[in-house]
Amino acid sequence: MTYFTKYRCTQCGIEFPPHELIYLCPACSKDYHAGMPLPGIVECDFDYPAIVREWEEFNVAFPDAHPCKKMDELCQIFSPIDQEYYPNLPVGRTPLVSTQSLSAETLYLKFDGVNPSGSFKDRASYLVVAEAKRLGIREIVTASTGNAASSLAAICASAGLKAVIFAPAKAPQAKLVQIRIHGAELHLVDGTYDDAFAAALDYSASHECLNRNTAYHPFTIEGKKTAGLELFVQMPVFPDYIFIPSGDGVILAGVAKAFTDLLKAGLIDRLPALVAAQAESSDAITTYWEKGVYQDAAKPATVADSISVKTPSAAHLAVKAIKESGGFGIRVSDTEILSAQKMLAERSGIFCEPSSAATLAAYFSCREQGRIADKATVVLMLTGHGLKDIGAVSFAD
Ligand SMILES: [Zn+2]
Repeated sequence: MTYFTKYRCTQCGIEFPPHELIYLCPACSKDYHAGMPLPGIVECDFDYPAIVREWEEFNVAFPDAHPCKKMDELCQIFSPIDQEYYPNLPVGRTPLVSTQSLSAETLYLKFDGVNPSGSFKDRASYLVVAEAKRLGIREIVTASTGNAASSLAAICASAGLKAVIFAPAKAPQAKLVQIRIHGAELHLVDGTYDDAFAAALDYSASHECLNRNTAYHPFTIEGKKTAGLELFVQMPVFPDYIFIPSGDGVILAGVAKAFTDLLKAGLIDRLPALVAAQAESSDAITTYWEKGVYQDAAKPATVADSISVKTPSAAHLAVKAIKESGGFGIRVSDTEILSAQKMLAERSGIFCEPSSAATLAAYFSCREQGRIADKATVVLMLTGHGLKDIGAVSFAD
């Protein structure tokens, strides 16, 4: 049972029937070629009144339900696919940690490093694998800086499907080990993530498989949406700002989708401001937000490999979501990122990836610049486990 009613192009608004295989809007993407942000990204629409009815019935039937049960219910009723197809490996329901150890103000840390493969990306892989099972497709391909690939490898393994991975040869060793130990077919690309993205598109054009390239398949955004839905259940007060590590912009687009869905359903009456935390050298989304004109990041080279992207696939969608939410983009240096990573590990007990720590570095920068109010309620999305890239760690203060 699902309340998924139709696909809709986020660019031209054309609608497509649900439950058919679709990637980008054919009209908007006819001139697409690898090396540019994805045009015509398609999103899922739902029967929002029916969702509200079921959510209200659930809350009447289980007024004292455990937060995990509530999160499961909310994620299921807002899901585009029935749970009968879900892989047999639990994903999501990640902890939200409230802490006063990092700042004078309370910060809320949503730690997704505890997912099965140690990354937020499991949320997207989970739904794409479910969709492959529904369609009877036995093979899924993806491009990745490392996390989406190791995630797809793990979730495919749990479902008995074949994962085909295109990843930059210089991806962190731990992520390549994960891909191999789960039995995925690994193609190392002598180039960047953007080159891997193109290679995965070529592969799916000539093989019978599902393509999980981020934002290319609409369920990657729907999967990432679940983190925002969980925040709706977990937060004791509604968040004013959510800081999100941003390379491709798809995690930001996914979290945005959660809150726009909740708004459409009438379960909330405003959006949290979404802040794209970017590395200085990988700042295409921030530049786009500032100037209103898209241009590639000049030369991505950051210690935060998970957000090292020249051409963000969801650039258009992410900037639209930032603007609609009243948020902004912000750049942080590698030095700030590594310092924030160490501080998080020392003071909160959470060892996260450098890309995740970019959110804390961005928060400090915002406080210093007076860009957010002192009493604002702030969530930092910590999207990957630090053990995935120990080579990046710095012990300097
Ligand atoms: Zn379109």
